[in-house]
Amino acid sequence: MAGAQQDYYEVLGVPRDADLKAIKSAFRKLAMKYHPDRNKAPEAEEKFKQIAEAYAILSDPQKRNEYDAHGFAGVEGFSAEDLFSGIDLSDIFGDSGFDFGGLGGLGGLGGGLFGDLFHHRGQHARPSRGRDIQVQLAVPLEKINSGSEEIVHFQRPMQCPGCKGSGAEPGTAPRKCEACGGSGRQVQSRQQKQGQGTVQVQQITTCPVCHGRGEFIDHPCHSCKGSGRIQKDDKLKVTIPPGADEGMALRIRGHGLPSDEAGGEPGDLYVIVRTAADPRFVRHGADLWHTVQLDIPDAVLGTTLRIDTLEGKVDVKIPPGTQADEVLRVKGKGLVKFGGYGRGDLNLRLTLRIPEKISDEEKRLYEQLRGVRKA
Ligand SMILES: [Zn+2]
Ligand SMILES: [Zn+2]
Repeated sequence: MAGAQQDYYEVLGVPRDADLKAIKSAFRKLAMKYHPDRNKAPEAEEKFKQIAEAYAILSDPQKRNEYDAHGFAGVEGFSAEDLFSGIDLSDIFGDSGFDFGGLGGLGGLGGGLFGDLFHHRGQHARPSRGRDIQVQLAVPLEKINSGSEEIVHFQRPMQCPGCKGSGAEPGTAPRKCEACGGSGRQVQSRQQKQGQGTVQVQQITTCPVCHGRGEFIDHPCHSCKGSGRIQKDDKLKVTIPPGADEGMALRIRGHGLPSDEAGGEPGDLYVIVRTAADPRFVRHGADLWHTVQLDIPDAVLGTTLRIDTLEGKVDVKIPPGTQADEVLRVKGKGLVKFGGYGRGDLNLRLTLRIPEKISDEEKRLYEQLRGVRKA
């Protein structure tokens, strides 16, 4: 459909902070209304596609994250299979009577409602792209602050050179499944009442004999144990932009899996930026939090403390009468904000250090102090 794509939250009619339950319930309501089996209005199918796509993105925390951070650009690389493989329809619709063509979940592609609806997805209709790979990269706070170049190590499945991907030991060949003729699927036809007449409904199920593989490998290749693929270590240099948000997805085009089809483009590599654990600071967006223990006299009388920041130490004035759990904000000493829009703050949570053991002199002074307070 031409024109601007509608915001996924608007499509489902939920607020941006909606929880999974609200998203699920909104999707269920709309899908019941616009499912092409029920709604014969010409725009229903298009509407249903939008709803399903919105649900696929917003119901997956990772994809939702990327969409929140980068809009459609963050999620455009997902193939229909990526989008719908994790969704369990029976969980949502129960026995509502929908026939999803024996998909048993939205993941079964190459047939069925969702495969048909979304085969157009992606810039290239055919041949299909390879799949995307996702790797997590823990980046220390200092490097997030300054931006940096990091080497990501990841494993990329490759066609097994031993068996050239067939999974069969060299010199042997896979045996075709006789039950399904090698297709991996079984097609059953039945008559169903619709309106005045009956229609022929085809139900496609996974072949129960070969479980969809279409063939048996009697002598698996010893290098790949019959899978046809091996994991190859790979590494790549990526640029971390200053202030990269937690969970930000950096897309590196063409470094995903090769396409299964000749001439198909490879998928993309997504590097998900994670903030490495830090002994001093906890990150919240661009703000940093740090806990400081104050001695009682310092809390009562006020003092100046040398505090760690990402760029060396600074002096911070603690005012007299500071309370336990008070938060002192040191403006502009947090992380650089992504996109260059200023800096976050460093928040100091002040706690009191109550001594468990004290010297005789301290004890005398505390007792003297108690006497003064009571007087
Ligand atoms: Zn092999
Ligand atoms: Zn079979």
